[in-house]
Amino acid sequence: MKSYYINHQNQKDGAHEVHTADCPFLPGSIDRRYIGAYKSVDMALDSARVEYMDVNCCSYCCKSEADAAIA
Ligand SMILES: [Zn+2]
Repeated sequence: MKSYYINHQNQKDGAHEVHTADCPFLPGSIDRRYIGAYKSVDMALDSARVEYMDVNCCSYCCKSEADAAIA
């Protein structure tokens, strides 16, 4: 399981980005919110969507995990 965070500040397109705890693009502590530890990024996204209308995967950390799951 990995710990996931969401960027509390939305991006230019209005979406909130989800990151893993070890992502280099993880926002600072003021701008992020812990959403929990999940087995997959999909579960983290589902959880984030309960509170945030528009949720995106970080293209850096979420993508690498999806690739790892396929391999
Ligand atoms: Zn990230």
